[in-house]
Amino acid sequence: MFEYAPAPESRSVVDLKPTYGLFIDGTFVDPTDGGSFKSINPASEEVLAEVAEAGTQDVERAVRAARKAYDKVWGPMPGRDRAKYLFRIARLIQERSRELAVLESLDNGKPIKESRDVDLPLVAAHFFYYAGWADKLEHAGFGADPKPIGVAAQVIPWNFPLLMLAWKIAPALAAGNTVVLKPAETTPLTALLFAEICQQAELPAGVVNIITGAGDTGRTLVEHPDVDKVAFTGSTDVGRAIARSVAGTRKKLTLELGGKAANIVFDDAPIDQAVEGIVNGIFFNQGHVCCAGSRLLVQENVADRVLESLKRRMAHLRVGDPLDKNTDIGAINSAAQLERIRELSDAGSAEGAERWSPPCDLPDRGFWFAPTIFTGVTQAHRIAREEIFGPVLSVLTFRTPAEAVEKANNTPYGLSAGIWTDKGSRILWMADRLRAGVVWANTFNKFDPTSPFGGYKESGYGREGGRHGLEGYLNV
Ligand code: NAP
Ligand code: MG
Repeated sequence: MFEYAPAPESRSVVDLKPTYGLFIDGTFVDPTDGGSFKSINPASEEVLAEVAEAGTQDVERAVRAARKAYDKVWGPMPGRDRAKYLFRIARLIQERSRELAVLESLDNGKPIKESRDVDLPLVAAHFFYYAGWADKLEHAGFGADPKPIGVAAQVIPWNFPLLMLAWKIAPALAAGNTVVLKPAETTPLTALLFAEICQQAELPAGVVNIITGAGDTGRTLVEHPDVDKVAFTGSTDVGRAIARSVAGTRKKLTLELGGKAANIVFDDAPIDQAVEGIVNGIFFNQGHVCCAGSRLLVQENVADRVLESLKRRMAHLRVGDPLDKNTDIGAINSAAQLERIRELSDAGSAEGAERWSPPCDLPDRGFWFAPTIFTGVTQAHRIAREEIFGPVLSVLTFRTPAEAVEKANNTPYGLSAGIWTDKGSRILWMADRLRAGVVWANTFNKFDPTSPFGGYKESGYGREGGRHGLEGYLNV
């Protein structure tokens, strides 16, 4: 093993405030009937800030502000003028990207090299991309004069706090809607810094409202009668509850839910590249990725070779301080998530799968889980069926392409899949048969604002990104 000198990114670029209010109607306000909660750094358990929790009246205030801004300012504004605000926001995100990246790593626990090199560039790219659509909506393929829906209620998870915000807010504003967004309880801070950026961009008051809180705040928001559109990213269970509460109302709904993707390696694949793709597929962002390649399907005749390379590669993954630029795997986002990962991993051992992790020293404080693989997994095992949402890979084998398709599709989810092979014809044959919204070939976890993303089956409905991402925010 190599020894690395620590290379910590300075956190002095972030100006943390001890307390944060709600961002309603263009200003930060104290909650009227809510309380407050603490956001911590999961790598150290240090309290970062005390954040306002929005109560029912606060949700009411935020929805009213969004309605007023929609009726008076943003709805009537020509697309070319909306575009100017979105371009301005995109540029400010780039200018302040180091600050945003450090804060994201502090609040979420993800490695700085990911927040800096993946999350932030994609966040800016989403705003640039949708800024370009704002004055061209009649060419988006949804009619000659597509109209916005109105006020959008948006609820997002903690795994990509700022990126999920960008996926929600950029298309909504480009299409002429106003929004009330609730970030996850464990990762509210970059959304509040984004609110400051909205002020800096002089975005008209009420176009973007950020209300922090936990699940109850989210439920109050999506159930509010004056909301026209609900956009949710999170777990399938909560998605189901939201679909029930929205059913029978006039609200439009898009759901981006969980996944259990198959990453399929054929015997003619370039094994070293495939191993990099397997590692990226499951250990990127600690495996807190809805489209993570959490089920490795490897062709039986190369399984030993692939596993040997994979283990060798895993032994070089560096787990630890998210702000260290050498770090590959950061902290698990919360104690509750760590508990879920532990519980499911213990079930894997109890059900007879064989567990392996490289030797790895974990820090004393904070929430950590060593990169782990399970071999000897069958399709009936819980670790093959349930989303673990952590750095845990289940390995299964197959013999024929047809068997790979059958096993890959044997899941209630359908968000993504990966195929590793030398043959283009096999990629196309497989992609036709895999029931997944995104299929990557000889790569994994590649995102681009021009490319639609979304699921089949219990992974949700609607698409985010690309021209398709506008559809959920237009009356078509
Ligand atoms: P979650 O528990 O469903 O939470 C998601 C968001 O919903 C959070 O802001 C949460 O608030 C809020 N919430 C909780 N209960 C609610 C309710 N009854 N009504 C309205 N909002 C409610 O999901 P998570 O565990 O944070 O996130 C992980 C899940 O997200 C995984 O299943 C992952 O696959 C999925 N995900 C999917 C995509 C995709 O694009 N398909 C992308 C990323 C993540 P609090 O957190 O504050 O309680
Ligand atoms: Mg936090």
